[in-house]
Amino acid sequence: MPRPLNDSVYLYGLHDRGGEATMQGLKTPTSGWVLATEGVGSERNNLSGADYSDLAGRGLGVIVRLNAGYAGVGALPYATRYADFAVRCANFVQASRGAHIWIVGNEPNHPIEWPGAQWNWDVSPPRPVTEATRGEPILPNRYVDCYRKVRNAIHALPGHGDDQVLVAGPAPWNNLLRYPGNETGDWVVYLRDVLTGLVGPDRVECDGIALHTYTHGAHPTLITSAEKLTAAGFTGRHWHFRAYQDFMAVIPEKMQELPVYITETDQGDIPWQNDKTGWVQAAYSEIDRWNKIQAQKIRCLILYRWPQVPGDRWGIAGKEGVVEDFKHAITHDYRWDFDGPPPPDGLLARVEELERQTKSLLPAIQDTQALDGEVTRLKGTVDALAAAVRQLAVTDLANALAELEAEVQRLKAEIPRPPEPEAPQPPMSDLRGQLPTISGQSYPERVETAIRRVIVHHTVTRADITPQRLAQVQVNGGRPGITYHFLISGDGAIYWTQPFDSAVAQTFVPAANADGVAVALAGNFTDAPPPPVQLDTAAALIAWLVSRFKLSIADVYGRCELENVASPGKQWLAGANFRATLLEAVRDLLEASDPLRLIEKLRRQVLGLQAQVADLTDQVQTRDATIANQRAEIADLLRKLQECQSGQVIVTKPEIVDLVDSLEKHPTQTYPNRTKPITRLVIHHAASSNQTTVQTIAHYHVHTNGWAGIGYHYVVAQDGAIYQSQRDETKSNHAGGEPNNFSLGICLIGRFTKTNQDGSPREPQDQVPTPAQMTSVSHLAAWLMQKYKIVIEEVMGHRDVWPKGTVCPGDQWLVDATWKNTLRQRVKDRLAGHTGEGGPRMDHYLLLWDHGGEEWARADWPNVQKYIAHFRPTVGFAAGDALAARHVTIVGGDAGVTGVDEARLRAAGIDVHRMAGANEAETRAMLDNLVARNTLWPGAAPWQPRSAPVASAPPPAEPAAAPFVDPWDMPADGPVAILPTRGVAPDAPSAATRIKVRPYFDPVVSDK
Ligand SMILES: [Zn+2]
Repeated sequence: MPRPLNDSVYLYGLHDRGGEATMQGLKTPTSGWVLATEGVGSERNNLSGADYSDLAGRGLGVIVRLNAGYAGVGALPYATRYADFAVRCANFVQASRGAHIWIVGNEPNHPIEWPGAQWNWDVSPPRPVTEATRGEPILPNRYVDCYRKVRNAIHALPGHGDDQVLVAGPAPWNNLLRYPGNETGDWVVYLRDVLTGLVGPDRVECDGIALHTYTHGAHPTLITSAEKLTAAGFTGRHWHFRAYQDFMAVIPEKMQELPVYITETDQGDIPWQNDKTGWVQAAYSEIDRWNKIQAQKIRCLILYRWPQVPGDRWGIAGKEGVVEDFKHAITHDYRWDFDGPPPPDGLLARVEELERQTKSLLPAIQDTQALDGEVTRLKGTVDALAAAVRQLAVTDLANALAELEAEVQRLKAEIPRPPEPEAPQPPMSDLRGQLPTISGQSYPERVETAIRRVIVHHTVTRADITPQRLAQVQVNGGRPGITYHFLISGDGAIYWTQPFDSAVAQTFVPAANADGVAVALAGNFTDAPPPPVQLDTAAALIAWLVSRFKLSIADVYGRCELENVASPGKQWLAGANFRATLLEAVRDLLEASDPLRLIEKLRRQVLGLQAQVADLTDQVQTRDATIANQRAEIADLLRKLQECQSGQVIVTKPEIVDLVDSLEKHPTQTYPNRTKPITRLVIHHAASSNQTTVQTIAHYHVHTNGWAGIGYHYVVAQDGAIYQSQRDETKSNHAGGEPNNFSLGICLIGRFTKTNQDGSPREPQDQVPTPAQMTSVSHLAAWLMQKYKIVIEEVMGHRDVWPKGTVCPGDQWLVDATWKNTLRQRVKDRLAGHTGEGGPRMDHYLLLWDHGGEEWARADWPNVQKYIAHFRPTVGFAAGDALAARHVTIVGGDAGVTGVDEARLRAAGIDVHRMAGANEAETRAMLDNLVARNTLWPGAAPWQPRSAPVASAPPPAEPAAAPFVDPWDMPADGPVAILPTRGVAPDAPSAATRIKVRPYFDPVVSDK
């Protein structure tokens, strides 16, 4: 049967209809929520609604988001139409069935949700297309005004007075809405300001809060990542899933009873990774843990989104890996509503789970212990962490588990026997009918089932007064008999003084006399409480009475709580407050006599321990990650060591940002895979401004060229950042014709020509790649050459492939700066093991031997003068210095410069030549011969002096007057039109317009 709010006790949920089957029949008939979004417009006379009763009827929780419209229309309308919107929302609610939870609007701090907004999302930061299309910002006071009107209108409807109307979740990491008091545009401050606006002095005008949170990536550890933003002003804000905790932290105190719903989550700007990564399980586990520890519960975590909607990249349907992950999460049976009865096997199942978790934890701990020694040698820090985790895990947890297991065993043994129905009757002296009375008088009679409470008195006498003496005093005072059912003397002895069916005159309250059992403690507790022995037996007696008459602790009163008298003394409620001591003892006795109450208590302890286990698991995972990193570091160092020892040099993979999946693609066309191996690298320029982005190029290739996707495989930005934009195996469109089949395209951002497209001149430094670009592109090219065994001659410019078709990568490729040659040289250097960092290298070094003191190449010295004078090499005596040169000439045999040193130079990729004759005279003849031939070493090409001025080669036939229109060029950057898929929808919303727009403006990235 649907619950009153058509809600669900489970945390699971999907955005939009269609995936309900994944939440049904796994462990329970139905396990979650569906969120529907509606664009209802703002017309007062629109009376239409929608039917969700099919969902509610199946036991699914239903949440409906009410938007005025989508992109451009606004999640809320203009402020002047809030009243109309409220009427329209109420009409919609009245005409709808099966829903009682409503969200007012969406991400109101995000410009995409503002009425009249048209923004350019391809620039950073995003900005309005024109000032007129900024839209009307939904400031906190505007949102509060609108929300209040909608909420009042819905609550006024018959049958909807108790509906939950939720505040919309702000967009985390979006800082585009700034206003006085929130100058940085902090999304958390925005939520705080909205909520504060709904808290009045004596009431809270809010029924609940919706939140959005995400990770930036698909790795499950991002769910619990504590990583914070680094941008100034945001250093306290989480960068991943725990952004929800930032929001929770600003909910005003008066709102901390309200329900919270996380109505959107996913893996960030990228589509869902179609793998069972454990991300979904980790996310639900995180919220479950929050609910077990925190007072304010989160009632759902809704995955964005189920259907595949054209133009929206976050669909889940068809991604079996994600669905499997979700189904696995559902088997954990996470609920937010803990008040319902626990499953019958709850305790044992949970203990088993705890044991299993602990067992799985131990190998990890042992494994990491074994590693500690190795890692400690690298970094001492891990040791401290390991010790802390070991101590926590092994002592505290093991002890707690041992105790728990012992208690469970004891309970298991007890459960088959019928539970003891009541606390035992303590020993007592039965004096019923034996004490003084007034003959012929008696108290009214009653039936025992009339008894509803226990009333505690003090006697205001000595603590050792006898029951006989006390009865006599009261009879002398005119009472029919003693006014108590029980008397407990100061030494703890219990006397049963009146039968239960006697309604003694213990108070002046007739009702209390009729249904109360009177328990008197002998003594006067005005200044001091009863002694422990008296309290102990009082507790035993009262526990017996409470269980015998099926009462609760709350049915035990001091007489002074029923009427204006002092009994049982000032110390009952104030001072020593022996009421609390007594009732606590009664509670313990009752629990000890009732296994069910004890199980409940143990269950709470188990939950606490589970949270500890989860925390420890986190710590172990964090440490495992640290160890894995360090292992990788060790492996890397070992590999490098081996390389050095074996003389083999390997180009490491440069840092590459993978954008392939996030870039725009053609809706229908796709590129095929190549059918030939990769044997060529083709270098391009973007022929654009220096700030053009990969996204802009992809947009241009798809929308203007009509290609399946971006043409290039790699793009290198002016700051040297390398992006992968197509998979290597993709036969994309960049070089043109058959070469596409066997070449990779690398595009450098920039325009390496003398003139702009309009013919105006470019600055000299803008005519060639930046130093950072040259470093990155040479590293990338060297790495790809190594990977695919490409020869240097196949590193070509686009114009080398099609000389008549394009000037790409610019008219500076082959002339003047000849950066083609520079690039090839840098690539060769990379392949020779030089990183290219640390400044320019020496070209040629003449190495003479030096064994110290007078032992040096004294005899060779006169013989090399002619060679030095002619070729002007760098001359020196240190093999170590020679490592910085491209070419080294060694003078003399290996009795001078040793063969080991020579091998070391060769291993470093240096071109080494040794000039050694049988004696000094022969060596001299060899050197002179080289001078005569003008070659640096035998077989070398004729030498050209470096410093000689190079006559400018005549520029190739370049069009001077009419600018050359390169068919491969993109137009110069200007304002970029908004993508069609993000366009402004007309007033009538349709399914195709319900598209989420991201990326959010990102303060971290934009600062880089
Ligand atoms: Zn090109």
